[in-house]
Amino acid sequence: MERKDVPQNLQWKLTDIFVSDEAWEKEYKAAEKEYGEYDFSAFSGKLADKTTLLKCLRLNDTVSRRLEKLYVYAMMRSHEDVRVAKANSSLAMIRALISNVFAELSYVEPELTALADEQLQAFIADPDFADYEYRLRKIVKSKAHVLSAAEEKLLTLSGNVLGDFQNVFSMLNNANLNLPKAELNGEETQISHGMYGVALRSGTREERKEWFEKYYGAYIRLIDAISQTYYSNVKADVFYKTARKYESCMEMAMQGEDVDKKVYENLIKATHAALPVMHDYISTRKAVLGLEEQHMYDVYVPLVDNADIKLDFEEAYALVVKGLAPLGKDYQALLEKGKNEGWIDVCETEGKRSGAYSTGVYDTHPYVLLNYQPTTNDVFTVAHEMGHALHTYKSSAAQPYAKADYTIFLAEIASTVNEVLLLKYLYNDTTDKNLKKYLLNYYMDMIRATLFRQTQFAEFEQIAHAKAEAGEALTKESLNEIYYQLNQDYYGAGITHDKEIAYEWARIPHFYNSFYVYKYATGIISAISIVKRILTEGETAVKDYFGFLSAGGSNDPVSILKTAGVDLTTDAPFEAAMKEFKDTLEEFKALCKE
Ligand SMILES: [Zn+2]
Repeated sequence: MERKDVPQNLQWKLTDIFVSDEAWEKEYKAAEKEYGEYDFSAFSGKLADKTTLLKCLRLNDTVSRRLEKLYVYAMMRSHEDVRVAKANSSLAMIRALISNVFAELSYVEPELTALADEQLQAFIADPDFADYEYRLRKIVKSKAHVLSAAEEKLLTLSGNVLGDFQNVFSMLNNANLNLPKAELNGEETQISHGMYGVALRSGTREERKEWFEKYYGAYIRLIDAISQTYYSNVKADVFYKTARKYESCMEMAMQGEDVDKKVYENLIKATHAALPVMHDYISTRKAVLGLEEQHMYDVYVPLVDNADIKLDFEEAYALVVKGLAPLGKDYQALLEKGKNEGWIDVCETEGKRSGAYSTGVYDTHPYVLLNYQPTTNDVFTVAHEMGHALHTYKSSAAQPYAKADYTIFLAEIASTVNEVLLLKYLYNDTTDKNLKKYLLNYYMDMIRATLFRQTQFAEFEQIAHAKAEAGEALTKESLNEIYYQLNQDYYGAGITHDKEIAYEWARIPHFYNSFYVYKYATGIISAISIVKRILTEGETAVKDYFGFLSAGGSNDPVSILKTAGVDLTTDAPFEAAMKEFKDTLEEFKALCKE
């Protein structure tokens, strides 16, 4: 399908931001000229003065609001057809302008950090700084780990060298991996990262085995280089944690998010306590699939034949609106508004960016990109992306610019709440046993992949870092050993653990962004607790949840979550999520017996 053939009402309305590409270009040129001539350094050295500081912070906001509007338009325009060179060059231009302008403002954060404690506290207490109060509180917290100006300069310089392991891994993982071909659905197919997942879900047993062995074979051939790269990456973390006087790399990463490290510890503890349920799930899979031996390449096969709900977009959207009824009429009205007012780009067209996302900035409404196909999975994608969109919408509506952006830690909660609510609605709405089983399987796989698997990764990172912190060298042998043991712990005796799986750590790009993946797990755990409250307590819970959606980044993420009734510093939400997994498995087993 060509973009020009898509009905207007199924396209997003970028004209809400700029009426035309010419208007964008005019505004870009104006911003480039104005900021090119502007003396951003005028405030430098004077931030202790209240009026100057306020002026500087407000200027920062004005500049970034203007630039991000230019950016988001250019980005979305280029995604409409990634082959259009002009759109790509506009995007590159605005990227460069943003990086130039913010390089000139990069003195602000260090200078604020260098202010005396009493001075910062006075600003925090001053109502004129209400928009910046949380940002300033974070700066106070970080002060204990900020070094002298000369040391900070060295650390910044070192970033050029020590921040590069992600790129090295990316080269190994893409340019040098040399993935071979393998058979899929009877056809010789080139193995790629994307096709690997497809093959493990849809290939025959023989094919899955072949893909698994060949895919890991490619990593095994590069394992010396990958081990050294990962070890160097961990050593870089240890270097910064030592320089900045943190107890551990994990603590350093958690403080960067302003999250109590207890959350990480709670996650690992609760997941371990629930591993027997995970083992039960794995054994149930083995029984349902009728396997004598279950290998890791069998774990992605759906347990239930596709019970696809084949709906066109309008019907699917109506279903999502209906399924999210527990969130109330106002929420449903916003969903309708989004569909009717050009937030969503629905159809897959030639050259369009693949996948789905939600975006938008403070001065625009949210936007959602889809490549909608009539499958059950895509109905969930609609609910998921609209969850992001309305989170952004409500935060922007309620918060001043400086506090509107929510952190990554909170980012996947609203989207998951919507998926879980929709799932429960569909489950209760149908008498079709196959669809019921399909939905339970969908839910269990979501929990397995987002909660258990990401926690397994998180634990691997923690163990690897702890060893390096203790001065132990990380080798391919030690890294494999850690991972192989974890895989046995997590999947249990229902799996025949092939030697290849010890190398799985070697193919995870997220490991070069240390202590990141645990947020996926805490996200789904929070969402499960929120849904439970909404379905049992109704209106009060919804009101609290809207408080969460409207809070943006106005406080530390754990405190914001507490407004929705989820306290991740306690065991309760973790235990509730594990119980949900257990209940779902029991329900599934009961349906299989019927
Ligand atoms: Zn998402």
